[in-house]
Amino acid sequence: MTSGISKSIDEFTSAVAEHELHTVELAVPDTQGHLRGKRIPAKRFVDGVHASGANIADAMFVFDMQNDLPDNEFVNMDTGYLDAHLVPDNSTGRVLTHRPGYGLVFADAVNEHGQPHPLAPRSVLAAQIERCQAAGLDPVVATELEFYLCTPEWEPVQQHIQYSSLTDGLALETCLHAMREALLGAGIEVEGSNAEYGPGQIEINAGPADAMTAADNTVLFKSIVKQVAVQHGMRATFMPKPFADQSGSGMHVHTSLQADGSNAFASCDHGAPNELMRHWMGGLLEHAQSMTLLGAPTSNGPKRIRPYTFAPTHVTWGLDNRTVLARCIAESGSAANRVEFRSAGADANPYLIIAAILAAGIDGIENQRDPGMLCEGDMYGNPGDHAALPTSLADAIAAFSGSPLAAKLGDVFSRSYVSIAQAEVALAAENNPEVDDVNDWERQRFMEHC
Ligand code: GLU
Ligand code: MG
Repeated sequence: MTSGISKSIDEFTSAVAEHELHTVELAVPDTQGHLRGKRIPAKRFVDGVHASGANIADAMFVFDMQNDLPDNEFVNMDTGYLDAHLVPDNSTGRVLTHRPGYGLVFADAVNEHGQPHPLAPRSVLAAQIERCQAAGLDPVVATELEFYLCTPEWEPVQQHIQYSSLTDGLALETCLHAMREALLGAGIEVEGSNAEYGPGQIEINAGPADAMTAADNTVLFKSIVKQVAVQHGMRATFMPKPFADQSGSGMHVHTSLQADGSNAFASCDHGAPNELMRHWMGGLLEHAQSMTLLGAPTSNGPKRIRPYTFAPTHVTWGLDNRTVLARCIAESGSAANRVEFRSAGADANPYLIIAAILAAGIDGIENQRDPGMLCEGDMYGNPGDHAALPTSLADAIAAFSGSPLAAKLGDVFSRSYVSIAQAEVALAAENNPEVDDVNDWERQRFMEHC
């Protein structure tokens, strides 16, 4: 198991013996990006469950962040909250070294007809990966996550900011080291960690992978970071804007495309993206406004989209410029060339935002969309006539509902997703109607579960 991920049940069975695993977590990500599933004795898993699977209530695909069940036209009392069947994806086995004895395998959910469940985020992403592969392009994805380390009372562990300091905050390093080790143990390639531009805010970078592995890694990353924080007497939150006057936490998504085994964006010329990269970016910008809902699915997320926060506010692209939406790394002949999409918050469901990016990008390639002029300088102060991104959940819903992107992601999924978001709008109107303020109701709702 050189990569840290067992690629077959035989490999995973060996890992169970080698690491003396007693329990396997069969994990399925829900619509909020939370891992749910069943804990199964390891012997039972390797003897049979890896093939037979397990069941889980399909209600998990229409939960809000607090497990309430907003009205939903597809999953409700009349449909009886059916069981979804979980089919283990035995090419995803991990060892959870921060909880000795435990391993984890991701599962796909199928509906009562044996088809991929239309509301399961893994199904939504798989469909978009297939679309790219049908065009001969294999997406490579990395997500970049920020989070706040907090006390058990959800206050930041520090009051000051020391961006990327190697001197300050050493008291936190024991915990951060344990996080990096736990991520490596679970097969997530850690590139590095640093203090971010917020009090107690941290960023840990993970390496690129194929799109499904990157999404699996991202939900597992969040779960591991939260669990290791608790093991060290702290809490971690991926709430996108926990404190109104401090930096938000983003999930930047980097994409490139492999064609015939090499990066199809490699042939850029001194910062000038090649044609394929231009079209890919053209697609991302074309659908950027409707994509906002996938990147900011609650009333809190859009509060991060504000000027001079390093979160983008307009539909722009540029080179090494942290004020644009799509930052393009386009060195001459570099295999590392990619597009960084910067609008999603750290609470975004990685399967869904990656699916949206792939759907938008491949549309750009198929329709030869052009991203327009390179944006240079301060895109907060001088956005010109570039379109603004939605800054409230209601606006994000309006941009997504009925959009071409919603159709690409699937009508059933998109309608269900919108109804969950509409319930969030109604709750926020009751509990925090302020568009910029972050109040205690919001923190209680999102700190722990984002
Ligand atoms: N914290 C910023 C955000 O919310 C991103 C900062 C950065 O460029 O890494 O998007
Ligand atoms: Mg950052």
